[in-house]
Amino acid sequence: MTSQLAGGPLVQLTGVNKWFGDLHVLQDIDLSIDRGEVVVVIGPSGSGKSTLCRTINRLESIEKGEISIDGQRLPEEGKQLARLRSDVGMVFQSFNLFAHKTILENVTLGPTKVRRQSKADAEKRARELLDRVGVGAQADKYPAQLSGGQQQRVAIARALAMDPKVMLFDEPTSALDPEMINEVLDVMISLARDGMTMIVVTHEMGFARRAANRVVFMDGGRIVEAADPETFFTNPRSDRARDFLSKIL
Ligand code: ADP
Ligand code: MG
Repeated sequence: MTSQLAGGPLVQLTGVNKWFGDLHVLQDIDLSIDRGEVVVVIGPSGSGKSTLCRTINRLESIEKGEISIDGQRLPEEGKQLARLRSDVGMVFQSFNLFAHKTILENVTLGPTKVRRQSKADAEKRARELLDRVGVGAQADKYPAQLSGGQQQRVAIARALAMDPKVMLFDEPTSALDPEMINEVLDVMISLARDGMTMIVVTHEMGFARRAANRVVFMDGGRIVEAADPETFFTNPRSDRARDFLSKIL
């Protein structure tokens, strides 16, 4: 159903609006993301970045507008939603690994339960992915035995194990000690180079400069400005973006 639409955008938000009670948290969001594109979303705290990610994954409903993934409109609920949601991998600030499962089990759980892969297939793939993110040697340990940076790399491997079409990262390095930030960013940069479509909420401007095709600046629930990183960082158009950049750079 999806392959004949291979030319269209992979993620498309059209006129998306969301309210939390009276709070209009997403206002007329239009955003179209191509296959292989890396979009970095920045903006002040409370501007709606996490909510945007969560609506793309339908962890949050929207009141108005449309979201489609690979040409398929996201329904509100039901079986089709579960399938479309598994096209979207998500990595959060807090790694959210299952504490009482081994690293390997954390990665095989989704593929065996949701994707109905055999245990052997899931384990083979999990080990490949754990190697890829540099924690293959930790497969039989438990999350608490790993550093924060290692746990976040496991969380990335776990998301990749579901073969998502797009990966969402919501401040993936914000909870990490400084010396661990780069090991996670390096994995993300390598994913980007391999052609993964990614939406990344981060204040790591070095990552944005190296990996992003586009920077989207949000403020007050709106996309205020979007441009390639070079243009955005050297010549932001809006006062709000300029003001924000002066605080974080
Ligand atoms: P950001 O990630 O940019 O910091 P969020 O998307 O988390 O912003 O939040 C946007 C706004 O929505 C904030 O004002 C926040 O307080 C509010 N908000 C977020 N989640 C909820 C919720 N579940 N219920 C009510 N308000 C929320
Ligand atoms: Mg947030």
